[in-house]
Amino acid sequence: MQEPAPGFAPPPDEPATGPCIVCDDPLDPVHQAFCSSCLQFFHLRMTENVEARDCGAIYFDEETCSMVFNCNPCYADYIERAYPSTPRMPGHPPRR
Ligand SMILES: [Zn+2]
Ligand SMILES: [Zn+2]
Repeated sequence: MQEPAPGFAPPPDEPATGPCIVCDDPLDPVHQAFCSSCLQFFHLRMTENVEARDCGAIYFDEETCSMVFNCNPCYADYIERAYPSTPRMPGHPPRR
């Protein structure tokens, strides 16, 4: 067991086994994360250079000065709230 990095939320006690809130496929026991907005588990690649699905994103929230895990729908909401003036071209979602 590795200690979580400072600022990371401690993982929930129960390992999640199931379906991803975003794509509804079974979760990978390693490459998963807990969305801090909708409080659901989703696929997230935890290390580089591995084959795993990404159904969300990690970003640094300046309001709380912490790393935040968000599933894709919640991350999109965050982008809309954080950058409401950013014009979005149809079919071109913001890069993460
Ligand atoms: Zn997924
Ligand atoms: Zn979410």
